[in-house]
Amino acid sequence: MLNLTGKNALVTGIANNRSIAWGIAQQLHKAGANLGITYLPDDRGRMETKVAELVEPLKPSLFLPCNVQNDEQIKSTFETVREKWEKLDLLIHCLAFASKDDLSGDFSQTSRSGFNTALDISTYSLIQLAGAAKPLMTQGGSIVTLTYLGGVKVVPNYNVMGIAKAGLEMSVRYLAAELGPQNIRVNAISAGPIRTLASSAVGGILDMIHHVEQIAPLRRTVTQLEVGNAAAFLCSDLSSGITGQVLYVDAGYEIMGM
Ligand code: NAD
Repeated sequence: MLNLTGKNALVTGIANNRSIAWGIAQQLHKAGANLGITYLPDDRGRMETKVAELVEPLKPSLFLPCNVQNDEQIKSTFETVREKWEKLDLLIHCLAFASKDDLSGDFSQTSRSGFNTALDISTYSLIQLAGAAKPLMTQGGSIVTLTYLGGVKVVPNYNVMGIAKAGLEMSVRYLAAELGPQNIRVNAISAGPIRTLASSAVGGILDMIHHVEQIAPLRRTVTQLEVGNAAAFLCSDLSSGITGQVLYVDAGYEIMGM
């Protein structure tokens, strides 16, 4: 049975009730996990208030600011996890960013700074968070990140984020190889297109969703909660033999050639 009772789970990437991380947090909570939530702080504290209200029903035992471009905040997040929880079992990496300018038009016009920002936030952050989680996952663990087909195949407008996701998927494999001997598993979920804050920055996202609804074997796209269910599986002992993999939760779209 899928049971995460007694597991401490740190969930990144909740911005609002459309966030995939929100779908994941709800399913981890349902399976009995003890949650810690991190959010991206802003100057006015709006995000803090909004996310705090949203996650309140899940009774997280930790609620912390963590901008993955800020080394101090990452350090402090994991120090708090060590102090309050002693061990970490599950880490959900569910965040990404690229400038809107770099998510449409000619890929060859990607700016150096746009490239660096996208790869820093969307790819390097997994490596850094996994490195910080490693010493705390003293009883093994599971790390789950979110990727998209645009990291494997060309998807119009996905552009620099495709490069970030390709790097992310390869990082999953290198991390899985390094952390496996410590019984820490690392996997990615490749989700079908879902309307969220992040995806609305990708040019033509609604067309992408309509296309998937016509072509995917299930004739629809997926929901945040379906991704959450797959994440709960990858966090549980039911997936104890699985690491270094990319699991497609996309209503089957990935298998289609035409
Ligand atoms: P979202 O906008 O709800 O979530 C993105 C999150 O990234 C937000 O919570 C935001 O605060 C966070 N973030 C951005 N910059 C950050 C920083 N510097 N530090 C910390 N957090 C930061 O959108 P989403 O679609 O739920 O995205 C979550 C993940 O799912 C992303 O990795 C995205 O690429 C991936 N994904 C999304 C789709 C889709 O269609 N929505 C499909 C496949 C994969």
